[in-house]
Amino acid sequence: MSCDQDDHDHPVGLPAKPPVPDDVQDAIRTLIRWAGDDPAREGLLDTPARVARAWKEYCQGYGEDPSVHLSRVFEEVGGYDEIVLLKDIPFQSHCEHHMAPIIGKAAIAYLPTNRVVGISKLARVLHGYARRLQIQERLTAEVAECIWTHLEPRGVAVVIEASHACMTARGVRTPGVNMVTSRVMGLFRRDERSRAEVLKLMGY
Ligand SMILES: [Zn+2]
Repeated sequence: MSCDQDDHDHPVGLPAKPPVPDDVQDAIRTLIRWAGDDPAREGLLDTPARVARAWKEYCQGYGEDPSVHLSRVFEEVGGYDEIVLLKDIPFQSHCEHHMAPIIGKAAIAYLPTNRVVGISKLARVLHGYARRLQIQERLTAEVAECIWTHLEPRGVAVVIEASHACMTARGVRTPGVNMVTSRVMGLFRRDERSRAEVLKLMGY
């Protein structure tokens, strides 16, 4: 057993696995054949259904609006008007060009006016956009825009650092290379000192 195959056996008490339409399974069989293997051999028999369900999970974000996580705000902030930062948030996404994994971490900061959210919500916004087919630049911008629109803070900064399997495992095959993208808005954009401060807190 070389990978997580726990969906081989249906765990008692959990809802039944969602059915996978035949045409979806056929598509994956075609891909296996195209890659050079025989989809009819024993080890690959259940693979099409498993791959399809995995892709539903990777792309869960299509079924949600990430801004819902920012709808519950706390207005009692005790006069706190400094940077709120969540950093080293691990995430996974898939690039829309190769459907290959993007694995990395994000730092998300904002400068509240009079409302803050539970800190875990920032990570939920990130995951809502990451669980789609993405490019890193858009992911970074979507997270920043969502916070900007829904929390109306004085500033937002998002920095994402990730490795792209389409670059590390294929193509130029350069493991260890990370791509860094950032989006700064409001005061973090206008004011150089505020930007330097938030980037330093983030470790950049
Ligand atoms: Zn790619």
